[in-house]
Amino acid sequence: MIAEIIAVGTELLLGDVLDTNSRYLSQQLAARGIALCHRQTVGDNPARLEAALTLALSRAELVLLCGGLGPTPDDLTKEIAAKTLGVELCLHQPSLDRILDYYARSGRMMPKSNQKQAMLPISGGVVFPNDHGTAPGCAMEKGGKRVLLFPGPPRELIPMFESYAAPYLDALADGVLRSHYVRVFGVGESAAAEKAAAWLQSENPTVAPYAKDGEMYFRVTARGDTAAEADARCQPTIVELLSLFGDAVYGVDVDSLEQAVVDGLKVAGKTVATAESCTGGLIAERITSVPGASAVFGCGVAAYNAEIKHRVLGVPQDTIDRTGTVSAETATAMAQGVRALSGADFGVAVTGAAGPDPCEGHPVGTVFVACSSERGTEVRALSLGSRDRAVIRTLAASHALDMVRRALAIGQ
Ligand code: ATP
Repeated sequence: MIAEIIAVGTELLLGDVLDTNSRYLSQQLAARGIALCHRQTVGDNPARLEAALTLALSRAELVLLCGGLGPTPDDLTKEIAAKTLGVELCLHQPSLDRILDYYARSGRMMPKSNQKQAMLPISGGVVFPNDHGTAPGCAMEKGGKRVLLFPGPPRELIPMFESYAAPYLDALADGVLRSHYVRVFGVGESAAAEKAAAWLQSENPTVAPYAKDGEMYFRVTARGDTAAEADARCQPTIVELLSLFGDAVYGVDVDSLEQAVVDGLKVAGKTVATAESCTGGLIAERITSVPGASAVFGCGVAAYNAEIKHRVLGVPQDTIDRTGTVSAETATAMAQGVRALSGADFGVAVTGAAGPDPCEGHPVGTVFVACSSERGTEVRALSLGSRDRAVIRTLAASHALDMVRRALAIGQ
């Protein structure tokens, strides 16, 4: 089955609103093994919307539209879809009752214009109720083609998809599709893809490599009659990837490095504290973005200037004078200092030149990361081949998290 997505809304074309719905719907189609070949964005213009839908129906069996289901006269997505597909809209009393009830609960009268939201394809269609707003979605079916309609606001679209459209699509799909994610840090994208080349050809499961923010992950997807069968098909490939990438794998089906660190610290009953110069609190932010981080996070010190490094973290003045603030020695002393200050099991520190200008003679991208524990302190000297400040800071923070999770693994 070939699918296409059309996002409707002039605000999307103007760049005022980021089209997160298309991204979400794309992910949902991919998770079901439905091939998405094109995406379109079109403004609130009936003629252009009709042309976009006609084009989509000429090359796809399944078209997902989002936006333009509101009560105002320029919300015409449903009317255009019904006309293009040749499906009749009739008053759907249960939907009208829901809308009336929605207004009654907020102590308001339903404006007459909202009645058009209850006009739905009763024969040749399925209604998707809206549990978070007034506009119902629906599926229209005719001649082997299916058009699915969703409201624009993501807080309405996502729950509607999960509750009503997902079961509808699952029933169309052939068997169950399951995906697992093997996450790797510290191996470049092309090196990783080369290493895993043999698996990238496989069909059930399929293996797809992705790179994001200096990290890599492999998505392993298999189809089976049941979820257990699909999972069992993924398993041997996951095991192969684990042995291929060894300790560069930081988790299977974990969300992020920070999630792996927090989970690992919780299991070990350990805590961490951070001392950050060029990342300015980014590591602490990433750790504390994980729910439940308070059980494992002691404190974070954003020690941007030399005096704070000395006065708060206890970096010896002599170390700063001799080696500068961007050095392995200073990173080591910062990690040891924050560990002593907080009483945490691990102290992790970063100092470096994030740019745009070189720092103390070090080129942009020079970063020292240190991780201190009762077993001693390790330092990584990095030359991050980028001049982009945001990229350098993200990578430096990722290396710091990677050092903590490796130190944890050794300690177990
Ligand atoms: P409503 O009943 O709220 O009018 P609607 O289905 O008519 O719903 P739109 O008017 O097209 O939806 O969009 C309402 C809001 O939803 C937009 O202002 C925007 O904030 C958000 N939105 C619309 N489309 C998208 C999209 N593709 N991605 C993310 N947000 C979107």
